[in-house]
Amino acid sequence: MKIIMLGAPGAGKGTQAKRIAEKYGIPHISTGDIFRANIKGGTELGMKAKAFMDQGQLVPDEITIGMLLDRIHEADCVNGYVLDGFPRTIPQAESLTKALAEMGEAIDYAINVDVPDSAIVSRMGGRRACVNCGATYHVEFNAPKQEGVCDVCGEKLILREDDKPETVQNRLTVYHEQTQPLIDYYQKAGVLAEVDGTQDMDQVFTDIVSVLGA
Ligand code: ADP
Ligand code: AMP
Repeated sequence: MKIIMLGAPGAGKGTQAKRIAEKYGIPHISTGDIFRANIKGGTELGMKAKAFMDQGQLVPDEITIGMLLDRIHEADCVNGYVLDGFPRTIPQAESLTKALAEMGEAIDYAINVDVPDSAIVSRMGGRRACVNCGATYHVEFNAPKQEGVCDVCGEKLILREDDKPETVQNRLTVYHEQTQPLIDYYQKAGVLAEVDGTQDMDQVFTDIVSVLGA
């Protein structure tokens, strides 16, 4: 099963993608996590990406598309995957469609997690992330057992640089201009499913499972 998560930054794509990956036994592929791992590792790719990410801008398609296409050709992707944060532009979506078509494949579901901008700023301000294992928490809605410490790996949790309010506004503007048109793109492809992302996390997941099938 090949799944795309759509939605504004902070809509809950990563939270739900992790659950989907676990339930259906497919990898969770987050381009944001791949960039952050590269930044942490001090790679050239990471250095290039960081300048854009810190400002809430998208990393250019020339960097992002090749990176993602390489990843989905790895062995663990044979039974599908859930993409979180990719595609984010029409050229990214077109490249993915083309690369899959060359293998006789296509995306099965594009799930749009719908949350209005008004709810996004508080979600992002309360998000805490583990840069070691990629787990995410929220200080109010999904708190770790011990404040500031990752339940999964014990690393210190951080407030992402790009989750600060001044950057979140930029990210929302970029989302509306460049990413929201993908909702239409996948609707036309006949694979769009909408879920109400303002519900609690368990209910959002229940709605997604009813789309995907148990
Ligand atoms: P995205 O991957 O779309 O950027 P995340 O999954 O990281 O978003 O979620 C953003 C923040 O909101 C996180 O702190 C997360 O714990 C919290 N969150 C996710 N889903 C919900 C929800 N349904 N209700 C409340 N908070 C949520
Ligand atoms: P995320 O973890 O999905 O919120 O992504 C964090 C940041 O990484 C984004 O604000 C972008 O700067 C960058 N990024 C992640 N995925 C993409 C993508 N598909 N295209 C361009 N930039 C991306």
